[in-house]
Amino acid sequence: MSEQAANTAPAIILVRPRLPENIGMAARAMANMGARALTLVSPLRWGGPYLEKAAAPATPKGLEILRAATICSSLAEALAPLHLALGTTARLSGVAAGHGGDGGWRNRVLTPAEAAGELYAAGRQNLAAALVFGPEDTGLENDEIEQCSHLVNIPTFGLSSLNLAQAVLLLLYECSKSGAGNAEEMPERQNRRPVTLGEERLLLDSLRAELARLDAIPADRAPWYMRSLRRFLRRRELRRHEFDLLMGLCRQLRHKLP
Ligand code: SAH
Repeated sequence: MSEQAANTAPAIILVRPRLPENIGMAARAMANMGARALTLVSPLRWGGPYLEKAAAPATPKGLEILRAATICSSLAEALAPLHLALGTTARLSGVAAGHGGDGGWRNRVLTPAEAAGELYAAGRQNLAAALVFGPEDTGLENDEIEQCSHLVNIPTFGLSSLNLAQAVLLLLYECSKSGAGNAEEMPERQNRRPVTLGEERLLLDSLRAELARLDAIPADRAPWYMRSLRRFLRRRELRRHEFDLLMGLCRQLRHKLP
């Protein structure tokens, strides 16, 4: 892969990875495919002797990636600066059942090629993007899946669950085929850029707080309302100046309501 593509390959986020060996193999896959930015969210075993366990399968190039990895305590923290986060899942049925109905994940699970296309488009706009992987035993939890922009599934012809690092390798390879991230276009004007996932979360939290103060949504329905609002906002591809507008409205409500 060319250096240029390597610079803009998606970031890799591993959520609660259990085995240091898998983290090491994932880092090696990243080194193979020219990806550099690794984030570990609450790894079960990390640092000290565990870094040594990860280093062996990582190879020296992967070890550089491991040493530079960012450690976060929550997925929300890892996603905050990003514009696009593609969650990966081995399971389709459980996920769909948890969020069933029209507009649920059922309609939005991407193939690896579609995911690579989304990442390529983000790269061309200089928008920070990541692939998000779940723990080896349970995969991503539903609320973590909800935080991602889209879901990706690698179709299999038998056992649906791939080894974590193999899933990383396969999706990064798919990205390399589409030349993901060879940014050639000018970045958009700052106030017209799409919102980050952190800004989206801030806005939803503010809306939720003000709607609760207005007694506009029953407490037990709040999660459903917020999920629907998030889907609505995502369909609108909210821009930064629109985010400022809605945050301004929330501020007005906060100050003017008793
Ligand atoms: N038992 C878990 C499997 C976890 S495998 C489950 O049923 O979800 C660990 C991680 O590797 C997954 O969370 C996902 O990020 C990735 N992965 C494994 N197989 C995959 C597949 N077929 N498609 C997409 N991602 C996959």
